[in-house]
Amino acid sequence: MPILIDQPVVKQPHRTPEFTAHDKEIRTILCPQMAPIHFALFQAVFENHGCRFEVLPEVDRGAVEEGLRYVNNDVCYPAIVVVGQLIQALKSGKYDPDRTALMISQTCGGCRSTNYATFLKIAAAKAGFHHVPVIPFSVDIANGNTKGINVNYKMLKKMFLAFLYGDLLQKLSNSCRPYETVRGSVNALVEIWINRLRKAILSNEKHHVADFAARIVHDFDTIELTGERTRPQVGIVGEILVKYHPGANNHLISLIEQEGGEVVVPNILDFMLYCLTSDEQRKRYSHVPFLAGLKSSAGVWLIERQRNKIRNILQKSRRFAPMGTIRHLIQLAEPIVSTCNHTGEGWLLTAEMVELIEEGIPNIVCVQPFGCLPNHVTGKGVLKELRSRYANANITTIDYDPGSTEVNQLNRIKLLMAVALRNLPK
Ligand code: SF4
Repeated sequence: MPILIDQPVVKQPHRTPEFTAHDKEIRTILCPQMAPIHFALFQAVFENHGCRFEVLPEVDRGAVEEGLRYVNNDVCYPAIVVVGQLIQALKSGKYDPDRTALMISQTCGGCRSTNYATFLKIAAAKAGFHHVPVIPFSVDIANGNTKGINVNYKMLKKMFLAFLYGDLLQKLSNSCRPYETVRGSVNALVEIWINRLRKAILSNEKHHVADFAARIVHDFDTIELTGERTRPQVGIVGEILVKYHPGANNHLISLIEQEGGEVVVPNILDFMLYCLTSDEQRKRYSHVPFLAGLKSSAGVWLIERQRNKIRNILQKSRRFAPMGTIRHLIQLAEPIVSTCNHTGEGWLLTAEMVELIEEGIPNIVCVQPFGCLPNHVTGKGVLKELRSRYANANITTIDYDPGSTEVNQLNRIKLLMAVALRNLPK
């Protein structure tokens, strides 16, 4: 007689259909918001490539509630935010699910961002949208492994330019906005340049990076300001989504400006370069295939070469200083953490804090999402060391999660600003 053994229940993976060339013709791709300036340009790159592409507007409380409904609540806050935003859009009735696809980032590293696509597939299936394709945005897409979207060299270059110009506009506008003589003039100038750059991307306009960058810098160099550099500068570092997404960080930039500060936010391209240096750094301690290490170093060289054009222009500017290089950031992090910390923001988070302090910006807000272990290690975890090395460091960490009250966040910012204003040289 056969012995009956309880068979384990094997759950079928949640599969959503693959995004095909036909889907590209009929479906609108929805992408969650992250950094409003950069993503307005990023959208133009996909539109130029023949996709219907829409970056969703900012996150509201309803999106977070949707995220909590479909994502396990022990998962990090950014996962809840992005999944919630996409499910909310599908449920809104504004988009026909038969003509919609979802895009979500996937880093293929050691943290939850590797699982975002799976979270979204499960959430979409649970919410009754199992037939909506999910497109993971990862290196696979850049390698041309996603059917329906053939990323070629031209598209990759435009993506890079979207982030290059996005970083420049972000830097210049944050530096001018608190001092604008005519209220709203800086954001209006950003809007003008977003539209101008979108037009250039959409029409395949041939241009030199240096020409556009020089005109952007000139416009911000000559905008009318009052009381320049009289406020304490405050750096914002931390997890990428919470750092850049105004809805996810409860409008942190506006809050700091209201409290009398001038915000400095690191470049998104630094994060991309940090990802690119992963193989190069690992090569120093373990075996990495020769070609992978070479690709990593070549990619960094190519990107930094383009950024040098912007650096040269900023060097001549009246108001703005050039951005640092990824090589310099590596050197800053090395004495404190291993540059093999490549999960989440890894060593970059530590390096950005050191860079700000060494550039004379000791006031730093380190944003920490709930459930984010890697960034707690290289963010909160290094504060003691930073304070012992830099006596003037005025760093506060702010936690973001679906339940954290804005009052707590505001109190921490007020405390940081009180110290920053007190230490401001007369
Ligand atoms: S870095 Fe942190 S918050 Fe971001 S996906 Fe990874 S675990 Fe989540």
